[in-house]
Amino acid sequence: MEKDLKKIDQSIDEYRKRVKGVEDVRVGSEVFDKSTLLTLYGFANKGFIDTLLGVIKTGKEANVFRAVGRGGEDYAVKIHRVTTSDFRNMWRYIDGDRRFSKIKRTKRGIVHAWVEKEFKNLELALSAGVRVPRPVVSRNNVLIMEFVGDEKAASMLKNSHVEDPRSVFLELREALKIMRMRGFVHGDFSEYNVLMDGDKPVIIDFSQGVLKHHPLFEELLVRDVSNLARFFNRFFDVDQAEVYKYVTGEL
Ligand code: ADP
Ligand code: MN
Repeated sequence: MEKDLKKIDQSIDEYRKRVKGVEDVRVGSEVFDKSTLLTLYGFANKGFIDTLLGVIKTGKEANVFRAVGRGGEDYAVKIHRVTTSDFRNMWRYIDGDRRFSKIKRTKRGIVHAWVEKEFKNLELALSAGVRVPRPVVSRNNVLIMEFVGDEKAASMLKNSHVEDPRSVFLELREALKIMRMRGFVHGDFSEYNVLMDGDKPVIIDFSQGVLKHHPLFEELLVRDVSNLARFFNRFFDVDQAEVYKYVTGEL
């Protein structure tokens, strides 16, 4: 038994060495746990990422890192912490989603489903023609996607100077409509979850998104629309009820 543990420790050290940069990107005193390290190792082994660069953003439940692929591609790697996640809240958005009817209702199971949900929602949005970071791969608590930005990561809509707010509003309104037509809703849409890639809005953070049959669908749609209307009201008059009608095709 002890021997086995030692063996595992040795291989963990080995993994650490195999994922370039992994030692340099600890967040404060926080290091990756073994399971996260193993997942990253798997990605490195399969050639998805070559080097993990610095932290883009540290959050309460997830940290986002910048990484480089084997061919020099820029990636964003979103890593969920299993320990500090709000499982009860996550479960509300997972329960009732037919895509996740078989998940294990453990902390780990819920976080893994949460990450996979973001991946699948990004795929849905991308295939519908909505501007989002292209999802590359996800496994366990780690999601790899296209990096948005150039030398620096793109900034949130909230903190951006918007040259042409009308066109950004129209694109985002169209995005909400297209997603609804395709039968899903972002669920956490706001100026915090839109990055500005130059003058183009890129929607991120899709893990709360649910499909049309989900009990929260309508409530989330109303909230997404109201967040859109509220934010753009600082630039021009936006009638929330009208935006809702547009998004649902009544107008
Ligand atoms: P959270 O659940 O922590 O809100 P987000 O998906 O919103 O997670 O990501 C947090 C932050 O990480 C974003 O505000 C943005 O600064 C950065 N980020 C996330 N995804 C990307 C990406 N694909 N490219 C560049 N930066 C990103
Ligand atoms: Mn976010």
